[in-house]
Amino acid sequence: MRTVILLSGGIDSTVLLAKLLAEGDECLGISFDYGQAAANQERKAAYRIAEHYAITLLHTNISEAVYFADNALMEYADIPMPIGHAQAPDATNVPGRNLVFIALAAAYGMTVQAHQIAFGAIIGGRAGYADCRQGFIEAVDEALDHVSRDTIGLRLHAPFQEWTKADVISLGQQLNVPLHLTWTCYTGNSEPCGVCGACDQRQQGFDAA
Ligand SMILES: [Zn+2]
Repeated sequence: MRTVILLSGGIDSTVLLAKLLAEGDECLGISFDYGQAAANQERKAAYRIAEHYAITLLHTNISEAVYFADNALMEYADIPMPIGHAQAPDATNVPGRNLVFIALAAAYGMTVQAHQIAFGAIIGGRAGYADCRQGFIEAVDEALDHVSRDTIGLRLHAPFQEWTKADVISLGQQLNVPLHLTWTCYTGNSEPCGVCGACDQRQQGFDAA
């Protein structure tokens, strides 16, 4: 099975990569600079992980394509970064982000005759983001099936939907994933801020794992 995996450099996509490789998949990574403040840290983390697992990584700059996105994640945001996870989904929602990522990954996937796009989204029993929810994932899976019918069939594979962050971290520990190489923080600081929604969830996940 050849898989194109959305590799952000965070925990979920990294553990998913390790899981798929352990299952025998051949994986190609794709990562995006969409103008987020953490773009450099995420890119470096994605490359560290790609190097660790000796996979190809296609890093793509789409920041000019989504320059209109106005939210706390962006490098020049007017919106302050919320403290903790509870307020984060509204302020940090990038409209349609995962739809854009998956569409580009699918275009790449069809070019390299991949069978699936791997997406490490966690729904997590919270309100979360619309583009991580089950209905979105099912609809995009069906859309990929349609769009790839004249080539090799392409599907969306999102096995962590029902998992918690702690479940993902536990699997990562079992698979000896170098979690210290991942980057989670929404900020572009040289060290994780420790208080944003992503840092908050990362810490809660480690505490519960
Ligand atoms: Zn942070």
